[in-house]
Amino acid sequence: MFGECHAHMIMDGANYRKAVGLHAHGVRDEVVRAHLSAYQKLEVHFVRDGGDSFGVSKRAKELAEEYGIDYRTPIFAIHKEGHYGSIVGRGFRNMKEYHQRVLEAKSEGADFIKIMTTGLLDFADHGRITGTPLPAGEVKEMVHIAHEEGFAVMSHTNGVYGVQAALEAGMDSIEHGNFMDEETVKMLAQTSTVWVPTLVTVRNLLGCGRYEDAVIRGIMEAGERNLALAYAKDAKVALGSDAGAYMVPHERGIMDEYHAFLSILGDTREVHEWMIKGEEEIRRRFLPGYGS
Ligand SMILES: [Zn+2]
Repeated sequence: MFGECHAHMIMDGANYRKAVGLHAHGVRDEVVRAHLSAYQKLEVHFVRDGGDSFGVSKRAKELAEEYGIDYRTPIFAIHKEGHYGSIVGRGFRNMKEYHQRVLEAKSEGADFIKIMTTGLLDFADHGRITGTPLPAGEVKEMVHIAHEEGFAVMSHTNGVYGVQAALEAGMDSIEHGNFMDEETVKMLAQTSTVWVPTLVTVRNLLGCGRYEDAVIRGIMEAGERNLALAYAKDAKVALGSDAGAYMVPHERGIMDEYHAFLSILGDTREVHEWMIKGEEEIRRRFLPGYGS
């Protein structure tokens, strides 16, 4: 099976508060082990976590070897104060503090740096992106600092402005990337940035009753068009489901994402080879010692 290039061990795909609450007084190994064993059963041997504030992904990395899993973690995600991201990480107010967070991640054993450059999709508001994106110049400096410290950068980013800023900054991977336009997908294809579309974070919400299906369907269709274009232009794209997100359980998130890719692009050898190439790029870059 393919690797899972975007997961959150701290969440369970059902109830965020409850899942996080389990680890409020220290990481509960049995919970982490249950998820790791789910990956083992799926024959998923590579997992890249998006980080959390409670050290759950850090613990998962320590235990993963027993399950034959190569587990990569940024430990926590880094967000600008006043912007989206506090649920998965630590904040900064200026570049000096950002650099400090990068050094903290390094000393705590991070494999790479995870940052948040835009908000998330608000399904209750026609799928609009929450908050304001970080300015392009700032994103560029953030990527530069992480690279200088020997780390690849994984970025939570949505929207045309956000994705173009990330591409111009030399981002290593862009997560979600909802609402790219055609020009942005073409730009993506001309860079070495890997796009991890996490399609099932949207697709799995269809018919769940929590949101309007028409809104979900609109975002889904835009994602399908962008994926087809990315494939046609041979952009770098990898499979990651954001496992742990609502309606995306660890037990099947990556299988759902895999089937979504195949249903959009067709079940051909070329499509498989393209997906393998994207994952290899993630595995190769998201290790300490970037650029050395
Ligand atoms: Zn995530």
